Amino acid sequence: MKHVLVFAPHPDDEVLGVGGTIAKHTDNGDVVSVVVISEGVSAQYDNPQMLQVRRDACKKACEILGTKNIRFFDLPDARLMETGLVEITAVMSKAMQEFKPDVVYAPDISELHMDHRFVYEATQVVTRPYLDVFKKGTVLFYETSSMKQVPFQAKYYVDITTYIDLKVKAFNAYDSEIEQFPHPRSIEAIRTLAKMRGAEAGTQFAEGFVVGRIVV
Ligand SMILES: [Zn+2]
Repeated sequence: MKHVLVFAPHPDDEVLGVGGTIAKHTDNGDVVSVVVISEGVSAQYDNPQMLQVRRDACKKACEILGTKNIRFFDLPDARLMETGLVEITAVMSKAMQEFKPDVVYAPDISELHMDHRFVYEATQVVTRPYLDVFKKGTVLFYETSSMKQVPFQAKYYVDITTYIDLKVKAFNAYDSEIEQFPHPRSIEAIRTLAKMRGAEAGTQFAEGFVVGRIVV
């Protein structure tokens, strides 16, 4: 049994980036914890009630994927650059101490969204190989279906053919975030991306990852 930790900059990144892989881990008996770094609301909505809506959606989505272990750190949405790496790293370190993961998933540097890139940078800090809390741990960087600044170059694939429907079902929990195709946050775009990664990996559906570190 592995302890798996997913760092999500916003509620919904855990589904977009790692939804199928989370479902596969929990199905295999692994313990998956999801840590949501920012509230994902204040930059888009004036309505403070949306915070609870988004949290409830995240809980529902994670439950569909087989986990109830979620932490919300509520740093300011779309302003992680202003928050700064020191503070982001501090909350993520806290999560590393609490969950002591064997495997960490975090967003890749290729993402255009600055919040995602800051969580990537902070992940590099909190997963240093000489830290007691993360000896011989695996780090994998995921893509979300949002814009990229440079191409995402997957070299590690998880076959999610059995789990793509669960991934879509989990994303459906985020009513407020679902858009119509060709928006990247549409069901069709999510399925298409998984199919494209599947074609690269020789499976029907896959999630792709950039390898941060694997120690065997
Ligand atoms: Zn995000």
